[in-house]
Amino acid sequence: LNERKFILAANWKMNKTNTEAAEFVSKLVGQIKTEDKFEVIVCPPYTALEKVRDITSSSNIKVGAQNVYYEDKGAYTGEISVNMLKDIGVEYVILGHSERRHIFKESDGLINKKLKKVIVSGLTPILCVGEQLEEREKGLTFNVVERQIKEALYGLTEEEARTIVIAYEPVWAIGTGKVATPNQAQEVHEFIRDLLKDIFNEEFAENTAILYGGSIKPNNYLGLFGKPDIDGGLVGGASLTEDFVELANIMK
Ligand code: PEP
Repeated sequence: LNERKFILAANWKMNKTNTEAAEFVSKLVGQIKTEDKFEVIVCPPYTALEKVRDITSSSNIKVGAQNVYYEDKGAYTGEISVNMLKDIGVEYVILGHSERRHIFKESDGLINKKLKKVIVSGLTPILCVGEQLEEREKGLTFNVVERQIKEALYGLTEEEARTIVIAYEPVWAIGTGKVATPNQAQEVHEFIRDLLKDIFNEEFAENTAILYGGSIKPNNYLGLFGKPDIDGGLVGGASLTEDFVELANIMK
């Protein structure tokens, strides 16, 4: 029997001031009920992390950052270290989000360095992978996802990589309202699980949570989360509104 948790993670992206974040997350704390096998993670912008951590500390809701740098400290203007996140009680870090890859030109090599740092520090990474529309149309979905995962995990042992959470987010489905069909998503999730088996072993693959992300809403989650290799969701747009409460409470 696998030990995977079902996870619902909120990626707020560059949305909500500290004041707005506090107001919204106070509502979540009152309305979302988590359980041992069901984890809810909220990832606000850096400026709201500490406030959101304070407000969620009376609940089981966990807090994640949307990015981090791999150096410990020094002359890296604009960057944030793992210790800065740990010091304020952050437990998760999203890495390799498609917006980081495409707008901010993050390479697989950079993501690999960040992933190593996050894992060694004891934070839990949520590694995002996914193909762009033209890659899917050319039949390259599996190649792209395989390259992103292999390069991100390069140099990590099974023991080190054990805490990783993977999010499959087809780029054409992010923020577009075009959700992958349950079968399209399941096919890639199964591919990722098989890949993890090849890279490490079956136990590792069975215990790794693989989330789907891309235009999840309360009216389209059902088919997706019934699939055997889909262990939850990474939610952007719908995580900024009451829709997130609805998703959390129906998923439980
Ligand atoms: C995301 O950015 O991780 C995401 C899934 O966004 P959306 O739900 O808005 O497509």
